[in-house]
Amino acid sequence: MLTPMDKPPPLEPLPEDWTRALAVVAHPDDMEFGSAAAVARWTGQGKEVVYCMVTSGEAGIDSMHPEECRSVREAEEIESARIVGVDTVEFLHQPDGVLEYGVPLRREITAVIRRHRPEIVITGNFQDRFGMGMLNQADHIATGKAVIDAVRDAGNRWVFPEQLSNGVEPWGGVRQVWVGGSPDAAHGVDTTDTFDKGVASLAAHKAYIDGLGWENWDPREFLEGFGRQVGQRMGVAFATGFEVYQIKWEG
Ligand SMILES: [Zn+2]
Repeated sequence: MLTPMDKPPPLEPLPEDWTRALAVVAHPDDMEFGSAAAVARWTGQGKEVVYCMVTSGEAGIDSMHPEECRSVREAEEIESARIVGVDTVEFLHQPDGVLEYGVPLRREITAVIRRHRPEIVITGNFQDRFGMGMLNQADHIATGKAVIDAVRDAGNRWVFPEQLSNGVEPWGGVRQVWVGGSPDAAHGVDTTDTFDKGVASLAAHKAYIDGLGWENWDPREFLEGFGRQVGQRMGVAFATGFEVYQIKWEG
């Protein structure tokens, strides 16, 4: 029997008083499995969102060699980003499937943060599991942990100082890191008005979805299931959840 304790708590809306965000995720498709509709909402408000893919997802299609797959998946990501109003997609070309958390990865991500100077950084769940006990994947865990560190590295002029030339300065202006797909989300974004764009941006990963070989899998149905559940926690039709890491003290 359901008791009031079983009901997931309401989600706090994320702040929207910012202008620049940077999303750093491991693979093309990571933003599209839940967060893209929120991105469409923000770009629709005139905010700038930049995507950075740590890998090109080149090891993601069993029937396609990574050499060919890399360009297919980069093209799909650029298109799915365009659909939600993101014009800049960078690829760090780190090796898909075997990413390692450590100083080299932090260095790569720090350089991107220093160049784009975002107020908000978005990444994906880096806990061992998603909700419902589903195991997370090694690249996601490495990327998320490195993103949190890189946000702090970016503000310290004595960390990776070789990056500070040609006008690149330290950047300590990241206010918060928002983690999509986290089982500990306490914040959410109402995506009701931009839900269709989120669906279209996931559907743009056609070669990838075909390659998964999930029979009759429908991007809309998939996103609706999660979107509705999260929406209930905000009193709206559809929403997506984020865990917030406060970086800057805001009194
Ligand atoms: Zn992924």
